[in-house]
Amino acid sequence: MKDRTEDRLRAILCCCGDDHTVGEGSGHINLVQLDKLAEWPFMTATNVLVPESKNYPLASAVVCDRCIAEGREILYAIKGEPGPDGEAVYSRVPLSELKKPDFYWPDHHPDRQLEKAYEEMALENQRISEELLPFTLETLPPYEE
Ligand SMILES: [Zn+2]
Repeated sequence: MKDRTEDRLRAILCCCGDDHTVGEGSGHINLVQLDKLAEWPFMTATNVLVPESKNYPLASAVVCDRCIAEGREILYAIKGEPGPDGEAVYSRVPLSELKKPDFYWPDHHPDRQLEKAYEEMALENQRISEELLPFTLETLPPYEE
């Protein structure tokens, strides 16, 4: 089944410019978390490890691969609102129209960002290894020629 959200995001203009859609500039849909408050329900960034982030959802940008490779400036955030059919409708908002959040949670919980996620991934990988791989180097018989 084709994801209609993905199609809709590829069809919008890239958040770096007005001359191309995300799909024209990219094979991927790249989401970038911005330091602006998102005042709409969809395409917002929060962090499940930071409860305060729910009160200060951050705006996101959808950027194509080409603009990332060229280091182009992000000019817009992507706004998602419920449409008449119940599915999200996306539009762009110039960054100059957005507020800074009163509480920018990534600054307050750097310990709950990537390192914490990596830590949890490592624990999960260890759990999977122990569960699925009964043999370790120590339990294998020594190699003999
Ligand atoms: Zn682009």
